[in-house]
Amino acid sequence: MATTKPRITDVRPIPLRAPIDRPVRMALGEMRWRNGCLVEITTDAGVVGIGESWVNFPAWAPAERVATITEGIRPLLIGETVDDPRRLQRKLLTRLQRIALQWGAIGPIYQAISGVDLALWDLAGKLEGVPVWKLLGAPRQDLVPAYASGLGPDNPGEQAQAAVEAGFAAVKLKVGFGRERDLANLEKVRAAIEDCPLFTDANQGWSLDEARAMSPALAEAGARWIEEPLSVDDDAWDEVGQVFPMPVAGGENLYGAREFSRWLEGGRLQVLQPDVCKCGGITAAYDILTSPSAAQARLAPHYFGGAVGLAATIHLFAALPIERRVMVEYDINPNQLRESLLDEPLLVGGQLRVPDGPGLGIKLNDRALAELGG
Ligand SMILES: [Mg+2]
Repeated sequence: MATTKPRITDVRPIPLRAPIDRPVRMALGEMRWRNGCLVEITTDAGVVGIGESWVNFPAWAPAERVATITEGIRPLLIGETVDDPRRLQRKLLTRLQRIALQWGAIGPIYQAISGVDLALWDLAGKLEGVPVWKLLGAPRQDLVPAYASGLGPDNPGEQAQAAVEAGFAAVKLKVGFGRERDLANLEKVRAAIEDCPLFTDANQGWSLDEARAMSPALAEAGARWIEEPLSVDDDAWDEVGQVFPMPVAGGENLYGAREFSRWLEGGRLQVLQPDVCKCGGITAAYDILTSPSAAQARLAPHYFGGAVGLAATIHLFAALPIERRVMVEYDINPNQLRESLLDEPLLVGGQLRVPDGPGLGIKLNDRALAELGG
């Protein structure tokens, strides 16, 4: 290791886009394209770190993210010493939090910082010559469990059966498409997976009354959790615990450690799902998941993006307390931003390989990257 720490010479957003054969549908809308935004940080030592920022929604999010990273974040990092990713993540949050409030753009700012944070952890690991999971104090693990996500509303039975056959440890069905359809889909999935664990996700799709009406059917189907039953700005979340007999999951749309603590202390969530590409990176997700207020929660990081963020999620998951962590989320729909970018896949027989190389431990395929717009 060099005695003088390297300095950051550039921070570059890399927007990517891939077509989807079949749009991904959920209660809040459709994804017709796979959008992605990588973040590349270069240093005067020649070492390059790579991260990923969440840009799934809206369709124009990549344009905003490129501007936020180039104009808002890049000037704050050029010339900075690469040492502790936590220090630089904190600097960015401190400098940008009030701008985010003034702009009314807490989400985009946190998502942009997330991408940078992932690249900083990748850099830190590469400079030390160790994987990120080791920097986080995790023991060596070859594989971590995954559950199949992205099922429904069309053909959920077939999807569920394919997921079980592929070796996933559980499946998650999207609900919130109308009572009749939800009930039919729950029945199809239950029949297809037999005793495999089932999770459900309403993607903020219900009112409290609708949630109350659906609760018995979810219980009947043996749902192990209901995710985001209400819109995250709905005050009726305080009553959700009385409506469902199963644990309530959420976190993919919460920003900042204080917000997570408030939700946990208010008893709103029993399964905690921060997303490393949204909540403020590995730094924020690790802090949230291991905070005292999360001590009673089950830990199930959200993920629905490309290869780089998935690798980061696996490193994070490997470092969580084994007795409380659940599984890593894995969208079973085809995703070129995940599959094409890596020569060595992360998914192995329904489980996820924990990369062993320095940093995030992945090597992106340059040709695929160019084809996807990078
Ligand atoms: Mg979800």
